[in-house]
Amino acid sequence: MTHTIHHFINGKIAEGTGQSFSPVYDPSTRTEIAKVAHAAPDDVENAVASAKAAYESWSNWTPLNRARVMYRFKALLEEDAQSIAELISKEHGKVIDDAMGEVTRCLEVVEFACGAPHLLKGDVTENVGTRVDSHSLRQPLGVVAGITPFNFPLMVPGWMFPVALVCGNTFILKPSEKDPSASLRIAELLKQAGLPDGVFNVIQGDKTAVDALIKHPDVHAISFVGSTPIASYIYTTGAAHGKRVQALGGAKNHMVIMPDADIEQASQALMGAAYGAAGERCMAISVAVAVTDAVADKLVASLKDKIAQLNVGPYSDPDSQMGPLISEAHRDNVVRYIEMGVEEGAELVVDGRQHKIDSVDHQNGYFLGASLFDRVSERMTIHSEEIFGPVLCIVRARNYSEAVGIINRHKYGNGTSIFTRDGDTARAFGNEIQVGMVGINVPIPVPMAFHSFGGWKQSLFGDHHIHGSEGVRFYTKLKTITSRWPTGQRLDPDFVMPTMK
Ligand code: NAD
Repeated sequence: MTHTIHHFINGKIAEGTGQSFSPVYDPSTRTEIAKVAHAAPDDVENAVASAKAAYESWSNWTPLNRARVMYRFKALLEEDAQSIAELISKEHGKVIDDAMGEVTRCLEVVEFACGAPHLLKGDVTENVGTRVDSHSLRQPLGVVAGITPFNFPLMVPGWMFPVALVCGNTFILKPSEKDPSASLRIAELLKQAGLPDGVFNVIQGDKTAVDALIKHPDVHAISFVGSTPIASYIYTTGAAHGKRVQALGGAKNHMVIMPDADIEQASQALMGAAYGAAGERCMAISVAVAVTDAVADKLVASLKDKIAQLNVGPYSDPDSQMGPLISEAHRDNVVRYIEMGVEEGAELVVDGRQHKIDSVDHQNGYFLGASLFDRVSERMTIHSEEIFGPVLCIVRARNYSEAVGIINRHKYGNGTSIFTRDGDTARAFGNEIQVGMVGINVPIPVPMAFHSFGGWKQSLFGDHHIHGSEGVRFYTKLKTITSRWPTGQRLDPDFVMPTMK
């Protein structure tokens, strides 16, 4: 008998009224390890009511005391790191070290949020007029919601709730139904850290739960991270219902390798950036743009050797470097892209479909070896669409300008990087590339917690990037107070537009 993963409402596990459930698998064995309950609209109603009731008191806690809850949560999460990493690996399939990296990234946002008293400081101007002062302050929005993808079940919620909570909001998380357990662990640890009941709630489920959340009149902001079609839907629907929305979507990230780069260093960086987490990262590099044929030839030879050494296997084997894909449907989808690449004329240098797993217990897992395509052209589907699997495409460019054109014409603009030893080229790249996050000799330029994360073009809908100062702005609204003292002063009626006198 497998267990059922429920919701977390008003400080405790809630079974909910929904009659629909879906299986949660261990992707390395294809075994069903749990069922997850899907929330009915009534369950969303309960979660919103609980978050709304908790808001009145929580929003009046001092920022310092809200930050203190985060300090305690940070200590608890550090103690729990290994256990939560195993929980993530079991449902997601990523190797333990990678899951630990996700825990660290979440902790960094928690550390940032611990600075709430400083982050929420406003601006003051004395004497905007005679004996008139102005000050601006940022106040919380109310109940806010986060809807998150399967690929980072801890880190991506961690981009949202620490900042939302310390700003004084109450929060409802709708995690991916594919790996839902980390969400409940977060809820338990926050409760242990002293977070009042109702301030953080979890609603499990699918579109039914999401639709109820994004249309609910008492939900004031939505943070979404997931695929582009759903991000676009969440943005338009949420905005049409009067909400503030930040919706981060899919990606196709290019790394440019210039002729002056250290090719060995670039190929080493590409291995982790393309195949880490089986390519299921929104910041994975899925296209290497090699500038000149000579660079491409060297890169292909080096990558081919390294792929032959890559250890693909289950998270339970400490030697594994790359785990399985999340589901059978997704694995089939990635295989279809590989077939499409071959049909469209790209050169399949390494075929991951042929990869065999040694472990007898893991023959049914959703594994796929690393694939490498050379001579991919800009118009091919494997270049224009996000594959989200362990497939790296090499595009050959004649020069720097051609490489930049390929990236700037792409519909996605999440991350990109360039490997070069030339300062002029690096600076020009940073200046002219139409992408939100840029690495110079850094393959995965994920901004730290005190900067903000977000792409351009079809990789983000909305006005704010996530966490860092953009996160504080997203989760607060600005109020500007203009005051005149002393009040005893006699004022004559004035019918013209107030100006500074
Ligand atoms: P997804 O879009 O399928 O699901 C994301 C969330 O939306 C889940 O909680 C899911 O339950 C919900 N959802 C799915 N279909 C829905 C629908 N029709 N209506 C309403 N809600 C729906 O994404 P995924 O497969 O879980 O995650 C992978 C995608 O996320 C990739 O495209 C990846 O690039 C993207 N991603 C982007 C970033 C970023 O920062 N830009 C980060 C991580 C992942």
